[in-house]
Amino acid sequence: MSSNDSPNSHTSENDALRRTIAELEQRHRRDKEQIRALQTQISGSPSHSSPAFEASWRARTDARVRQFCSLNRAGNALCAWHDSRRERRMYPPRMAPFGFLNCGCTHEQALFEESLSRHNVGSYLPGDSVRMDPALRNPLLKLLQDRYNYRDGDFERDPATGNWLHGEGPAYWEQQAATGANPRRPSGEVSIGTAD
Ligand SMILES: [Zn+2]
Repeated sequence: MSSNDSPNSHTSENDALRRTIAELEQRHRRDKEQIRALQTQISGSPSHSSPAFEASWRARTDARVRQFCSLNRAGNALCAWHDSRRERRMYPPRMAPFGFLNCGCTHEQALFEESLSRHNVGSYLPGDSVRMDPALRNPLLKLLQDRYNYRDGDFERDPATGNWLHGEGPAYWEQQAATGANPRRPSGEVSIGTAD
């Protein structure tokens, strides 16, 4: 009879196996926790954080501001909503503070309005009928910013990789800003162009 067959050696073997199982279970729990933490981190920070991508994001946003928030010939920069109305502007021509339009909306709000319209939430061009009222647009933007850290461009990024969707990177927008003007401008100049 070998010593391995003794009841004592079976007991210690079982104990060792039980300890191994307990250790593996603990490791498995830790791994699961770590995976959950990483998943939370990924979903909570949609920003692609490489410096190169951040730079491309800034360039893209700057180009969009040049295109959609530039002064018209009367010296007013307006969001699409206020451009379509004859309300008194909050700031006199050329007097809007940095980051604001003459209508009192911010650059971010104006870009958000344009971005929404590209996804069929409200419309943007003169003559379009369904408009995104700033009373809805601005709190919606704030909600997305607070909850999801929304920034202009987020709707144009691949949700899985965080990269720009095809043709949505800064190159396209820089070209638009350089060649095209604000798509609302032609009619804006017809109505306001006589002011100067
Ligand atoms: Zn406005």
